[in-house]
Amino acid sequence: MRYRESESESAELLRMILPRIARHGGCYMPSTYALWYEYLTGVNPKLVAALDQRLKNEAPLAQTEIEAFYSKFIDAREASTLEAYQAGLGELLRRLGEIAASSGAGTAEYARALAQCQQDLASISDAGGVQRIISSLVTSTNAVRESTQTLQKEVAATRDEMQQLRGQMGALQNLAQTDPLTRLRNRRGFEQAVADYALRSDGDLGGCSVLIADIDYFKRVNDSYGHLVGDQVIRALAQVLQNCIKGRDIAARWGGEEFIALLPETPGEGAVMLAEQLRVAFGKTRIKRGGKQDLNDTVTISIGVAQIASGEPLEQAVGRADSALYQAKNGGRNCVRVAPPAADVAAGHGDDAPPVAGAG
Ligand code: GH3
Ligand code: MG
Ligand code: MG
Repeated sequence: MRYRESESESAELLRMILPRIARHGGCYMPSTYALWYEYLTGVNPKLVAALDQRLKNEAPLAQTEIEAFYSKFIDAREASTLEAYQAGLGELLRRLGEIAASSGAGTAEYARALAQCQQDLASISDAGGVQRIISSLVTSTNAVRESTQTLQKEVAATRDEMQQLRGQMGALQNLAQTDPLTRLRNRRGFEQAVADYALRSDGDLGGCSVLIADIDYFKRVNDSYGHLVGDQVIRALAQVLQNCIKGRDIAARWGGEEFIALLPETPGEGAVMLAEQLRVAFGKTRIKRGGKQDLNDTVTISIGVAQIASGEPLEQAVGRADSALYQAKNGGRNCVRVAPPAADVAAGHGDDAPPVAGAG
């Protein structure tokens, strides 16, 4: 969590931010809010400098500019910090290599010193000679012992540093792959989790299904009840989705009011059944306004489902599920549609997703 303001400080910020959003235009969205929040608290110096520069020009900020600032100074930040950690880890590995190489050289030196001592021993003729050999042996033995002790210490320190870095990288990766509103994976997290799953299944997603769910007429919810209630609806759908899927299924917020799930080893029919359960369960969910009064309207979702063919890339399957979702919207919403099989799509027969269920 990078914001550390107290409740009263954050309330004061709210009072400062709202007029700015009003003055500059831009939607009342979390990203616009985050931009002004980070600007006013000064937590993001690069953003402050860039925005100050821009604000010298008195023309109000356009929505596109707000989005550009957000993506450059807030969204991209996690990725660049990750790169910095990766570079740090690379440097540690390089150092470890150097230490190992220098230890190898030290040992070779010691072996040479021992061989030399043996040779000298054969040709000595006095006690002084023996003493010289013994003291040379002691010197090189001490040297190698010191170098191995230093090596051990350096290896231990490097290992500790690596463990620390690994922990930090894990936490950062989690942050970069989690949607803050719903705590589900975001798009990046979804793609990573699917890639990990594919690695464990010989790189093939064949036999899995993918579904995309989108809230119907969500704009109306925002317009009638405000964005905060809209956010509550999004969180409620995330919760229902989470309750409907099984442990190995991979669910994520795909964007805005759209959710996605990859269902491993699930044929199309199984995926449609799950989509139906999800549609019905969400339709029954009572959403409270500010935790008090129920919404007057029932909020529904439409869902597109596609069974992934062997060898089919994820993007293509997602595209087919998206087309099926489009059919569900066209078919009256609050329903599930399934995409024609991938082979049919390739052969050009996949124009209409057959209706499978729902009110549409
Ligand atoms: P359809 O049934 O065709 O899907 O209509 P729709 O109104 O749901 O779709 P549309 O794409 O026109 O509007 C989606 C709206 O979702 C617009 C956008 O402002 C809103 N939205 C996107 N992300 C968020 C969010 O995080 N919170 C809130 N409250 N609204 C969001
Ligand atoms: Mg929608
Ligand atoms: Mg949408």
